[in-house]
Amino acid sequence: MPVTRLPGVGPAQAAMLARLGLDTVRDLWFHLPLRYEDRTRLTPIADLVPGARAQVVGEVAHVEHMTRGRSQLKVWLADAAGQGLGLRFFHFHRSQAGRLAPGTRLLCYGEVRQGGLGLEMVHPEYRVLEPGAVPTMEAQLSPVYPTTEGLGQKRLAGTIAKALTLLPAESALELIPPSWLPEEAGMSLRAALLYVHRPPPEADLAELAAGRHPAQRRLAFEELLAQHVSLKRLRALIQHQRAPLLAGDGALRARLLEALPFVPTAAQRRVAAEVAADLASARPMLRLVQGDVGSGKTLVAALAALAAVEAGYQVALTAPTELLAEQHLATFKRWLEPLGVPVEWLAGKLQGRARRQALERVAAGAPVVIGTHALMQEGVTFARLGLVIVDEQHRFGVQQRLALRDKGASGTLMPHQLVLTATPIPRTLAMAAYADLDVSVIDELPPGRTPVRTVAVAQDRRAEVIERLRAACAQGRQAYWVCTLIETSEQLRAQAAEAVHAELAAALPGLRVGLLHGRMKPAQKQAVMAAFQAGELSVLVATTVIEVGVDVPRASVMVIENSERLGLAQLHQLRGRVGRGADESSCVLLYQPPLGELARSRLNTLRQTCDGFRIAEKDLELRGPGEVLGTRQTGELCLRIADLSRDAALLPAVQRLGERLLAEAPARVEALIARWIGAAARYARA
Ligand code: ADP
Ligand code: MG
Repeated sequence: MPVTRLPGVGPAQAAMLARLGLDTVRDLWFHLPLRYEDRTRLTPIADLVPGARAQVVGEVAHVEHMTRGRSQLKVWLADAAGQGLGLRFFHFHRSQAGRLAPGTRLLCYGEVRQGGLGLEMVHPEYRVLEPGAVPTMEAQLSPVYPTTEGLGQKRLAGTIAKALTLLPAESALELIPPSWLPEEAGMSLRAALLYVHRPPPEADLAELAAGRHPAQRRLAFEELLAQHVSLKRLRALIQHQRAPLLAGDGALRARLLEALPFVPTAAQRRVAAEVAADLASARPMLRLVQGDVGSGKTLVAALAALAAVEAGYQVALTAPTELLAEQHLATFKRWLEPLGVPVEWLAGKLQGRARRQALERVAAGAPVVIGTHALMQEGVTFARLGLVIVDEQHRFGVQQRLALRDKGASGTLMPHQLVLTATPIPRTLAMAAYADLDVSVIDELPPGRTPVRTVAVAQDRRAEVIERLRAACAQGRQAYWVCTLIETSEQLRAQAAEAVHAELAAALPGLRVGLLHGRMKPAQKQAVMAAFQAGELSVLVATTVIEVGVDVPRASVMVIENSERLGLAQLHQLRGRVGRGADESSCVLLYQPPLGELARSRLNTLRQTCDGFRIAEKDLELRGPGEVLGTRQTGELCLRIADLSRDAALLPAVQRLGERLLAEAPARVEALIARWIGAAARYARA
């Protein structure tokens, strides 16, 4: 039933609702509040606490229109007990100021903050009370919904309330047979929906705010279930398709292993064997290889590539940055060309004739092609693409996975896919977010690695750090100095790096200091990297372009500026550029005091451990799963009510029930996906 069937909902409102993905009355039932406001009672001003939202009544004692600096209206409010509260408005009409004359009684709702002169509310909602009138309280907690420009909370809540009057009987609403529901999600769906849309005044606001009410748990369970079965179904559909058999005779792989200067770790061998088994099957592989920075994922990728080449198929390897793609190009050339396997380079910067010729060779069947992720988005045709390898892509969502797969299809055969990531995704998250992928973990570092000694040092001791750097380089060590200006502009970042480069070059006479940033030409970048790799540069000043994948085993010192402003995952990645060789490595986290609590906790975590898995768990605790998975950026797995870390305990039951539904009630699976994931999903068409 379309939303326009509700009384009072015309085409204009329907268009706004459509922007929120709300087309039907059913969609409205499942449009859940983000949070709640309590306007069921008044709080005496004396009881207000900073950070909380509250409703108060008071009389205007004094009004001031301040014009110095930013124009603002400041109102002092006093309640019956004589306690004062400041109200501040930055946007206001003159008429509004007139109505707030001393003596006027106001009913205000807003967030309480600690202002310079006591407690205050900035831009509270307020209503002028008639003299002697008793303010009316709302009967229920007010839900606050996600909304869109032009559609106010009141109007949206009213529309949802109308939709709720059409909520069918329990039996018609329930998609999961009640006897299949696990105990912790035992409430009826109907009761749960009514509760979250209209919690009674006695509801525990703290429990609701934390998302821990049984009604919320019931809905979270169903949402996670819908996500899970949709990924499972996608996976089943993919596995239904056919991929080339990439069994190969192992000859090229054996020759590579023989030529390597090291012996693969047991973990590398195990994961390579898992990949090889997938490749030898006609089901398209979808495997995520997870391995901490420096665990040697590149070798696993190279072995997979050779399996495809042995079988006469092509391989595409993509990396997120041009720098990393270039590095792979160098490694693969070093490893594969002696075996007689040419390596083709396709990057955005490759233009004109060279590009045309490269494209022709790829179309004619060049065995190994390396480039950035953009490689696959452009009009590249392969003769016989058998395997796609995507490196260092933790922000790689279902949508991208599907897009790549579609691009690579040749005839009726789908290529296999291998995704490499250094982001150790905690198990619970992996289960929920990557139910459509198999996961292999390289849980061992090559031998001889020692943990990176990590210290946090305040900016004002910068001179000491530079002196230590000088001493280390004098002993022949090589260092990265990373400038991490959080700027969106590549130009500003480049300028910052140039300034530090000048500073260090002046402070370190006799040492060669190089510079690397995103504004340099590819050839320049390559030359600098090559010089650093060859040991001709002692110090490499760089922006975060070196964050992922860069591998110079001899570098053993890392200085990270503004470390207090970076997230744990990024710091771990950056630090992972050192500690790759046999030398003991060290990392200096320069920070600008004073440190906030979160920043302190992050830097402490890094000082205490180099274990990417523990760091990821800590990250999850500090930031929440959306950020850990990078889903906030890609909009993937945006959950309405479930929270992967809070509701992790539900996941085993979600999995069990998911299997059962897929096996015994496929029609309900469809309905569940439509209800929670709806039209936004491409799943249906996969
Ligand atoms: P990552 O998993 O971070 O991509 P790389 O594949 O870049 O790691 O490997 C890191 C470094 O370790 C490289 O210099 C690589 O040649 C080296 N390496 C990989 N496997 C081994 C091994 N089994 N023994 C010793 N060194 C290894
Ligand atoms: Mg790598």
